[in-house]
Amino acid sequence: MSNKPDNNKAIGLKPEDWGIETQSVRSGNMRSEFGEHSEAMFLTSSFVFESAEQAAARFAGTEEGNVYARFTNPSVQMFEQRLAVLENTEYCLATSSGMAAITTACMGLMSAGDHLIASKSLFGATVQLFVNILSRFGIETTFVDGVDISAWEAAIKPNTKLFYVETPSNPLTEIIDIRALSDLAHKHGILNMVDNCFCSPALQKPVDFGADLIIHSATKYLDGQGRVLGGAICGPKALLKDKILPVLRTAGPTLSAFNAWVIYKGLETLSIRMDAQSAKALEVARWLESNPAVSKVYYPGLPSHPQHELAMRQQKSGGAIVSFELKANSDEEARVKAWKMIDHTRMISITANLGDTRTTITHPATTTHGRLTPEAREAAGIKQGLVRLAIGLEDVNDIIKDLSTGISE
Ligand SMILES: *Cc1c(COP(=O)(O)O)cnc(C)c1O
Repeated sequence: MSNKPDNNKAIGLKPEDWGIETQSVRSGNMRSEFGEHSEAMFLTSSFVFESAEQAAARFAGTEEGNVYARFTNPSVQMFEQRLAVLENTEYCLATSSGMAAITTACMGLMSAGDHLIASKSLFGATVQLFVNILSRFGIETTFVDGVDISAWEAAIKPNTKLFYVETPSNPLTEIIDIRALSDLAHKHGILNMVDNCFCSPALQKPVDFGADLIIHSATKYLDGQGRVLGGAICGPKALLKDKILPVLRTAGPTLSAFNAWVIYKGLETLSIRMDAQSAKALEVARWLESNPAVSKVYYPGLPSHPQHELAMRQQKSGGAIVSFELKANSDEEARVKAWKMIDHTRMISITANLGDTRTTITHPATTTHGRLTPEAREAAGIKQGLVRLAIGLEDVNDIIKDLSTGISE
């Protein structure tokens, strides 16, 4: 197995110095003795040793090499290396899902008696993890308005170990100032962890703004085609190896070699997909903004977005998620109009997933945020007339035509 990819010989540069499109297709490649051009998929649960002595050395950690696929697997390592290059971090650990990444990172970095601060606008399962599960192990969470940096500062306690943030947020696309938050964290010896699922490294590299750890649901844009589950934690090598790897190896939320290979190949088109989907999303957002039936559009790429300038500093473009509200005189009328619009689509998929090549449409108030109390939903800004789109790769005229049929004043 050669760890010397096409990498160093390709254009005489280090992967870190390549443009993102080159990194996407050339980094992380490990070639076996068979000389395959496309990366191999290593479907094996264990690895053989040349001798008992070598087995002992591998187990003792005095010799590098594969032992058992819960610890390492070449297909998984290729994915980890490629994502680390794309995120501009030293190291990456792959996990079986995005939630496994968050759980593993939290278990590695915190103990009973520790405190974490998170922005209010988070993926629903992340909130459940913090509120219902980590709390049982003595880890307390405070939720703050993520946009308000002074609220984070006010929530800091002597035992605060971690900040946890998503930007842009789901589904209202609030933008949080990663630089300001990282500076605050570091002043107090706290780690800043950013879920970069919505932008992916193609549009935003949180470490460039001081973030310490990056979380990914690889299920979304990294695979990009709605095929497999996966996750990852990117960050400094020592921190990941010393604190998080022991949990991953022992607790076992390991990414399968098959899924790793699928996502690794998905990464090859990440940058061009994100650029294309983002450009289409901007067109859809502009069309919605000019539609008289729409009262509000949430899209960071529009100058009307309250944090448009910050978004354009942190992100290459607005991303592929567009949310909007329909005009109505009551909550019930708003819900009826939103459902009508969703039900009139013939091409767009009615599904809560995002990050696919196919456009998806969701009514957050009755699906992803349906289990919240009406008060909590109100506080999160999820109105009955709100619709969320995750724009795919279809012809943008077809997307707009499909959305037009069920929309009326
Ligand atoms: C989907 C998602 C997750 C969880 O990822 P899974 O792969 O479904 O476990 C975490 N964060 C965000 C922002 C997501 O969209």
